[in-house]
Amino acid sequence: MIGHFLAALLHITSPVDAVLTDIEGTTTSISFVHDTLFPYAKQNVDSFVMAHRNESEVKAILEDVQKIANVSSEDVVPTLHEWMAQDKKITPLKSLQGMMWEEGFRQGVFKGHVYDDAYGQLTHWKNEGISLYVYSSGSVDAQKLLFGYSDHGDMDSLFSGNYDTRVGGKKERASYVKIAEQMGISPERILFLSDMVEELNAAKSAGMQTVLIARDAAPFNDSGHPCATNFNEIAIR
Ligand SMILES: [Mg+2]
Repeated sequence: MIGHFLAALLHITSPVDAVLTDIEGTTTSISFVHDTLFPYAKQNVDSFVMAHRNESEVKAILEDVQKIANVSSEDVVPTLHEWMAQDKKITPLKSLQGMMWEEGFRQGVFKGHVYDDAYGQLTHWKNEGISLYVYSSGSVDAQKLLFGYSDHGDMDSLFSGNYDTRVGGKKERASYVKIAEQMGISPERILFLSDMVEELNAAKSAGMQTVLIARDAAPFNDSGHPCATNFNEIAIR
């Protein structure tokens, strides 16, 4: 089957009480995370550990690394480098990266990238009385930093709630059921936005409305979901 041509404006005709949005590839360029945040952590891990190793939180993280990798204290930093090179999602590494990014955001080393259209529409929808929520595989703390120190100022206050993988995986139907329950909103009245078809499939199977954000402007859409190339193309009400 050949997909539909993209309409200039995508009209959402069913009622929407809440928008649930993904971050990477949806509100934010994928390159911000991969070309800014991850390299920053790699470049600064040695000096960060050196500066904070005697503080209780960092100390506990370093001990955790030592235990998990079964290495001596001198091998903790090389182990962290190894894990980062392999993009491991190990809790002490994620915690340490989170602390480093927090420092970077707070010191203004970088600001959270949010596309202009995402900022404009999220603000507009919020003003229209639609509640906004975030669901991302990045931790809730990291989400709050990205939006709290965004290149459009503090956007964190726009959101009524944040969800990460503690609620479940993004490609699992159960996660979206749980999120709707926690929001206290019927899934049919929640619009989920993502650049990943598998995530949209899971949300749809839980009863949510969906829009695929395809920023690379594919001429055809055969995803089975309504599609927009950016937030400005989505008309709610
Ligand atoms: Mg994404």
